Amino acid sequence: MATIKLDNIKKSFGKTDVIHGVDIDIADGEFIVIVGPSGCGKSTLLRMVAGLETVTSGEITIDGAQVNGVEPMDRDIAMVFQNYALYPHMSVEENMAYGLKIAKTPKAEITERVAEAARMLQLEPYLKRKPRELSGGQRQRVAMGRAIVRKPKVFLFDEPLSNLDAKLRVQMRLEIKELQSRLGITALYVTHDQVEAMTLADRMVVMNGGVADQIGAPLEVYSNPQTEFVAGFIGSPA
Ligand code: ADP
Ligand code: MG
Repeated sequence: MATIKLDNIKKSFGKTDVIHGVDIDIADGEFIVIVGPSGCGKSTLLRMVAGLETVTSGEITIDGAQVNGVEPMDRDIAMVFQNYALYPHMSVEENMAYGLKIAKTPKAEITERVAEAARMLQLEPYLKRKPRELSGGQRQRVAMGRAIVRKPKVFLFDEPLSNLDAKLRVQMRLEIKELQSRLGITALYVTHDQVEAMTLADRMVVMNGGVADQIGAPLEVYSNPQTEFVAGFIGSPA
């Protein structure tokens, strides 16, 4: 488990300012969902927490330690993307083991962790298959498995279900929530699906043009929007 603190985070690409000073305090084991229109900076914010983008100014603190200069591999964070980013030439088993191999985890431990993740995610029958031989939901589970085996302190999700059909999306979001609360891993989850946000979030962050307009429990945000933008965005079809 981990606390995450974003303190006045700003990001510019060249002369373009895309994040204008975001503050979020995340508790141990909390599930935070970030919503907002396309281009408002959701992915950029997540990528800065992951260490995949530098922070232009401000501080990111994980479990009390400032991590601005810390490499992604050393942040105890696992990220699940929309396109799964699985290696097509590797089997399910190899895909899940890959990050651990890179981190020089002992072989016996890799085998054990992959087996445990496969059991949790009901992937045991598919371990020898290649990603192209799997359904969308199974691929999504492999991406989850690859995140879980690293025993991260933090889960980051960037629209992980948007390539799935509606029925599978509902099933997978329940699985993600169940897994996250069982493992007690702090989660930051980006989506443009408001029902998904309502179901998953302990608190949601509504972003608007690089600013966090409102942060609060879903019901509070829905019943008491703090800005005109939030009022218009929430409840309107995505
Ligand atoms: P979202 O995920 O909310 O759709 P992004 O974080 O992807 O938004 O993008 C926020 C803004 O930053 C957009 O205007 C986007 O064009 C810009 N942006 C994102 N990544 C880069 C980059 N590597 N270089 C330049 N501009 C970028
Ligand atoms: Mg995005």
